[in-house]
Amino acid sequence: METMKAARLVETGKPLKLENVPVPHPGKDELLIKVKATGICSSDIHYQDGRSRVTKLPITLGHEISGEVEKCGEEVQGFSPGDRVCLFYLVTCGDCMMCNSSKDNYCSNAKMLGKNLDGGFAEYVAVPARNAFAIPDNIPFSQAALITDAVATPFHALKRAAVQVGDSVLITGIGGLGIHAVQIASIMGASQVIAMDLDGQKLELAKKLGATAVINPKTDDLAENIARLTKGNGVNVAVELIGLTKTIRQSIEATGLGGKTVIVGICPEEIGLNPYHDLLLKERTILGSADQCREDFPVIIDLAARGRLNLGHSVTHELPLEKINDGLEMLKNKNENPVRIVVVFS
Ligand SMILES: [Zn+2]
Ligand SMILES: [Zn+2]
Repeated sequence: METMKAARLVETGKPLKLENVPVPHPGKDELLIKVKATGICSSDIHYQDGRSRVTKLPITLGHEISGEVEKCGEEVQGFSPGDRVCLFYLVTCGDCMMCNSSKDNYCSNAKMLGKNLDGGFAEYVAVPARNAFAIPDNIPFSQAALITDAVATPFHALKRAAVQVGDSVLITGIGGLGIHAVQIASIMGASQVIAMDLDGQKLELAKKLGATAVINPKTDDLAENIARLTKGNGVNVAVELIGLTKTIRQSIEATGLGGKTVIVGICPEEIGLNPYHDLLLKERTILGSADQCREDFPVIIDLAARGRLNLGHSVTHELPLEKINDGLEMLKNKNENPVRIVVVFS
């Protein structure tokens, strides 16, 4: 039996274990992908420490995956060995009401790579062919991996908020997702993109990639700065990517009349809203945004291929699979100020 290296979560709360496991067999409508790059996401830390639950143990984590088609199942059409692809991480049924209404992120039968199914911290992964999207040669594998989550998640959130030309947009949290949210908001036509983070270096990068103003709450008063930058009107859209009660409330308060707040950061606590003051008086909207949809992929890939979306600053660290636990620790402790850390395979 052919085997491969995989970094597996065997026990919650413990480091991932490098194991030799069988190479998966692609089913008739599946592709066997030779993994080239898999991004390390904060969710992987949550699966590892048990804050979010995986549904099987042991499991190979990793949901931000790009690679090359190694083998096609007998009924697969449209792909050949050697094709460069990135993978939509939700394996959906393609058949339910949600799948049929472009809301496949809510497919009632969805299973997630690296959470419910073995993922990409391994040399190979098998996925339905409909989860693979071709990527052109000018997008390196490590950047293509990010498209599937670090780019697609804020893309979906900004689409949920229906950003209009001329809007002012506040992005809270300039990490692996926020740095792309800044760019996507400007591509969508925001006239003002305000980046907020506690890290000065991240804010500098945000400026380089299109933020028109930055706010560091360590030194700047948020409310004062929002009032100054928007002439007292508040922002049209706030995207919250951190998931703290404080930053969610700040995001809502930063929006003006008819303003929309999209919450992406995972926050399991109550946020203490006053419906009259916080919502009704300004006709504000609060939206949640989860994951992304298949239909988001071709647009993002096209934007990256044409250089409209600059992913050149997004991968700050590349590590071999053997160093996966160092990568998880680095992200957890924000050592060396990572944007995205990617596991790469030769
Ligand atoms: Zn993720
Ligand atoms: Zn479905």
